Amino acid sequence: QWVANSFAHSVQEKNNGDRAYFAYHRDHTDESIHVGSIVKSRSTGDMVIPISRRINTPDGEFAGVALATVPVAYFQAFFERMDVDDKGVIFLALNNGDLLARRPTLTALMTTNVARGDLFTLYLPYSDNGTAVIKSVVDGVERIYAYRRVSGLPIVAAAGVSYQYVFAPWWAYAYRSMALIGMITLALCLLGILLYRQIQQLITAEGDLNVARNELEIIAQTDSLTHLANRRRFDATLQQEWGRARRNNSTIALILLDIDWFKQYNDHYGHLQGDDCLRQVAGIIGTCVNRPGDLAARYGGEEFVVLLPETNLAGALSVAENVRLSIASALIDHAGSSLGILTISCGVVAINSPAKDSYTAALAEADRLLYLAKSKGRNTVEGQSMPDTYRLHQTNVIDLSR
Ligand code: GH3
Ligand code: MG
Ligand code: MG
Repeated sequence: QWVANSFAHSVQEKNNGDRAYFAYHRDHTDESIHVGSIVKSRSTGDMVIPISRRINTPDGEFAGVALATVPVAYFQAFFERMDVDDKGVIFLALNNGDLLARRPTLTALMTTNVARGDLFTLYLPYSDNGTAVIKSVVDGVERIYAYRRVSGLPIVAAAGVSYQYVFAPWWAYAYRSMALIGMITLALCLLGILLYRQIQQLITAEGDLNVARNELEIIAQTDSLTHLANRRRFDATLQQEWGRARRNNSTIALILLDIDWFKQYNDHYGHLQGDDCLRQVAGIIGTCVNRPGDLAARYGGEEFVVLLPETNLAGALSVAENVRLSIASALIDHAGSSLGILTISCGVVAINSPAKDSYTAALAEADRLLYLAKSKGRNTVEGQSMPDTYRLHQTNVIDLSR
């Protein structure tokens, strides 16, 4: 039965004997302050938190209860002023898990108990304060909480901010960074593709260029009419082989070949058939000269030349004789010749250990021998070895140097 109160009007007729805190004090002798679960005030109808204490008679018997109440609305208003985000939470709860106040507020605040939540089961048993990532048992939102037992009172205070709130600036930064890195990567990929294409084009162009260069090289070294080597290639090869023969002290041979009575051939059959004839003769010469290192070339007009490295006079004479016979055996009609067939004459020189740049002299000697063959009646091979020329030349050089 109420004895006294702090209200202006008297409410002595009220009875709180049924309240949990009343029963507690009646049954427990301790005189400490007791904070109870929320109750609905019998005087105002508001939700209040009862704070009570046992009162004893002088001889220690239970005499009654002194009660103060704090309206839950007080905490609600207080919490509103705190800086947590929309998804955040602040609450006060009794040690038994009964909620005393919460922001955001709950309609079922009075009957909500959070004792089975992670905070009460996993964290508070081990530490009176701390921080933890917890999924709320009330609304299921995962938050980062700071919690603490209020010293001297059976109350736990906790505040939690949502992941979203904490990480929003981080995510914004992360998204910006990712976007930037994405753009850089994309740009690099595009550049890579461009570079790859350019390299491919370059490789293709280089391949084409090589093919063209090779073709050009062949064209530049080939006689267009007979497809034998041309004079340019002959001159280059001659100098190369001459140097090699000189260094190795080996013998190198030259054959100059000239078609007999070719002017008459042209006059009789015409230039076009003359060209055909030149092609035919070139073909035959080509088949007779087949050792690697040998070179058959068109020397000019109806004259051909064969270069035979590592070949002595006997060998060169047999090649020349073979060409002469092969052409004669081809039985190419030649009305302008006394034999009635096309023939050739050859001048052959073999030079042992040739002196430097003496190939001009050797060619002149081959030419002389060719005209000797012509003068002897044509269809003939004339040969000459040139060791004497070499020795004479070498002696002169030595003499000069002394
Ligand atoms: P010889 O027996 O003394 O060698 O008499 P030849 O008539 O063969 O000699 P000459 O040097 O007097 O004549 C060479 C002829 O070869 C002159 C030219 O009409 C002919 N000739 C040179 N080059 C070509 C060519 O490319 N095509 C044709 N059809 N004839 C050519
Ligand atoms: Mg001639
Ligand atoms: Mg001729």
